[in-house]
Amino acid sequence: MITRFAPSPTGPLHLGHAYSALLNHDMAKAAGGTFLLRIDDLDRSRSRPAWEAQLKDDLHWLGLDWPEPCRRESEHLDAYDAALDRLWEMGLLYPCSCTRRDIREALSAPQEGAPLTGPDGLVYPGTCRPAAPPTGPRPKDTTLRLDMARACASLPMPLRFEETGAGPEGQTGLIETAAQEMTATIGDVVLARREMGAAYHLAVVIDDAAQCVTEVIRGRDLFEATRIHALLQRLLALPTPRYHHHRLIRDETGKRLAKRDDARAIALYRSEGLTPQEIRTRLGL
Ligand code: GLU
Repeated sequence: MITRFAPSPTGPLHLGHAYSALLNHDMAKAAGGTFLLRIDDLDRSRSRPAWEAQLKDDLHWLGLDWPEPCRRESEHLDAYDAALDRLWEMGLLYPCSCTRRDIREALSAPQEGAPLTGPDGLVYPGTCRPAAPPTGPRPKDTTLRLDMARACASLPMPLRFEETGAGPEGQTGLIETAAQEMTATIGDVVLARREMGAAYHLAVVIDDAAQCVTEVIRGRDLFEATRIHALLQRLLALPTPRYHHHRLIRDETGKRLAKRDDARAIALYRSEGLTPQEIRTRLGL
């Protein structure tokens, strides 16, 4: 078994991260497998070496260990570019110049009904989607969307992945998604962004495959996005790992923790003298 914890070095490690990291570590160790740390520093404008150093220090303090050097996304941009080229050549990507506002306005037209929200926010209304796949070289430094209907039509459907944890509505076991659900509830997701290159959904499937990850253990908030990941794995002929979505750690008011919740930063608990075992107990581990 190979598991991974893949934080973005954009803020302090908080209790929610610690839960995910400990679960990844414990499940790998229990199976005699390997726990990997991956640094998801694709968003170079927000990633900081100091956060990376701090999160490694916190994870070591929690008692976790992993093989070094760990994979850092910023060192594999060529792999993400190659995947974008491949999808472009398959005729599945198109450039999009819509702003968030354009999308909101297109969706507020009276005939559209209530706009649907998918894993990436509002389901794209298709304003820039061409009737036929664009030709010529892939445009660089521009937003590229996946033509979801075309992508689904090119694959055997439904898509499948195995869930050993549970989705937000308790979904577990074999999870199937039909083409109609992909187009209606997810739509044409962004796979490349201006100034950023590959987007998370593309990078994550390439990273997991490159690291031979067998179990993706992460927060339940990413359950719906897994449908996109299963699709990209098929399109790029990558293996689909097993998925285990775990509960989210919430604060006293029931709100899920975010990076800005410095009050739950592991570093703060450390400075207050809590032990790693006390953190585990607090997390129910
Ligand atoms: N860097 C992503 C995050 O922090 C990783 C998500 C994943 O585990 O796939 O949410």
